[in-house]
Amino acid sequence: MLTSIRHIANDLITILFPNLCVNCLKSEPFQGEQFCLSCLSKIPFIEDQKAVEASLIGKKSLPKDLSSQFALMYYYKKSISQNILHEIKYKDNPRLAQALGEELARRYLKRWPKDAILVPVPLHPKRRYKRGYNQAKKIAEGISKVTQLPIDDRIIKRVLNNTSQTQKSLEERKELLKDTYAIRKKVNYEKVILVDDVVTTGATISACYNLLKSIDIGEVYLATVAITV
Ligand SMILES: [Zn+2]
Repeated sequence: MLTSIRHIANDLITILFPNLCVNCLKSEPFQGEQFCLSCLSKIPFIEDQKAVEASLIGKKSLPKDLSSQFALMYYYKKSISQNILHEIKYKDNPRLAQALGEELARRYLKRWPKDAILVPVPLHPKRRYKRGYNQAKKIAEGISKVTQLPIDDRIIKRVLNNTSQTQKSLEERKELLKDTYAIRKKVNYEKVILVDDVVTTGATISACYNLLKSIDIGEVYLATVAITV
């Protein structure tokens, strides 16, 4: 019910304010995009995979033996990257989440592992219901559209609906995250690409990574729209 009311509200906004850049809400978006040219030029894209690795190196919680990592942009507070993440999480904009996935996929076109399965980091069912979609799955759909890699969102489930953990210490967060996710279905895939919207400490990826390793997935890759710096 809540979700449908929000959908209606968003449809109304689109009818009242058609074709405005989702970031500045002033200019017309560039052809086929959701941003105007000026905002597009402000997105802090990550240049290449080396830069991705360099920005993940300081993330102590991230598993050390991840296979390749793919990311689209840096995440800065109070910047367009924060607005983009906010837009796909809280502004009912799954289309943007998918478009970001497509852009991410195109940037690394020849580098995606063959025969890998895309696994979006799950949301708790209650939160997914409230939001209407899982933004990580929409990103995975965008990657899949470009790479043709299949998606399996039934391997891991989120069992705890714990909200913001920013007040807790890293160790406390890690401990809690261990029980936050669980294996839902055993599979025998060789390669899995974990997909998320943003990597902050890396603890979420680590929790999912450990679960995937516990069912003997050979190689685990990471694809994320943003990395905090
Ligand atoms: Zn703009």
